[in-house]
Amino acid sequence: MARKNIIIANWKMNPVSEKEAEKLFKEISKSVSGMKRTDVVVCAPYLYIEKLRKISKKIALGAQDAAWTDVGAFTGEVSPDMLAGIGAKYVILGHSERRVMGEDNALINKKVKAAIQAGLLPILCVGENERDEKHEYLNLVKAQIKECLEGISKNLISKVIVAYEPVWAISTTANRRDAVPADSLEMAIFVRKTLSDMVSSKIAKDVRILYGGSVNEKDAGDFLRSGGVEGLLVAGPAWMPRNLQRLSALRNMALERYS
Ligand code: PEP
Repeated sequence: MARKNIIIANWKMNPVSEKEAEKLFKEISKSVSGMKRTDVVVCAPYLYIEKLRKISKKIALGAQDAAWTDVGAFTGEVSPDMLAGIGAKYVILGHSERRVMGEDNALINKKVKAAIQAGLLPILCVGENERDEKHEYLNLVKAQIKECLEGISKNLISKVIVAYEPVWAISTTANRRDAVPADSLEMAIFVRKTLSDMVSSKIAKDVRILYGGSVNEKDAGDFLRSGGVEGLLVAGPAWMPRNLQRLSALRNMALERYS
């Protein structure tokens, strides 16, 4: 019996008003009702989390970033404790859009630790900007995993969800190109091997690995069937509740067939 998969919607800095956020969330909530084998998570802008939490318990809520510490003189930051306090369960950390703003693995490592400490489940994003023939991108992802998880005790590493997001496949990347399930499969195996060498094969098995990068309702099933992952991180299609519903339906189909 396969464990529950997970579909995470990253809303990024959208929508522009709380009213629209509520409307979208209600539509998504309606479209995923009755799904028993999919965990659906909406990672919304900070401001909307508390309000959305009250609308539906069917969808878990997450943030898209959090500070590396719980309290103090850090103007503009939002701590993981604050997020847990308003009902967030997950937090995306190390997204490529934050890495280009200057976040490095050392800072992300502190954020992962602070998030776990606050009781949040970190969704750690890793992924290369480009692929190269010498497979240097594997070393880059290995370094991301090792440095972002450094010093986290073995039993806590299984709480981390790793989202492989090749930047070259993300919908907003200039001159992007499509990834195929074989790209995701290769990396899922590699990430698990890296984790297994770091901690143990048992803990490595417990870590959920997701794929993200322009997933749509046409290829979601392929990624879930053949991409070696247990879920998807989606941004673009997360805007369309019907698409999210189709993604979930495809995921369910894949589970029915392969569990
Ligand atoms: C993302 O930016 O995390 C992402 C997965 O984007 P998209 O689905 O739009 O490619």
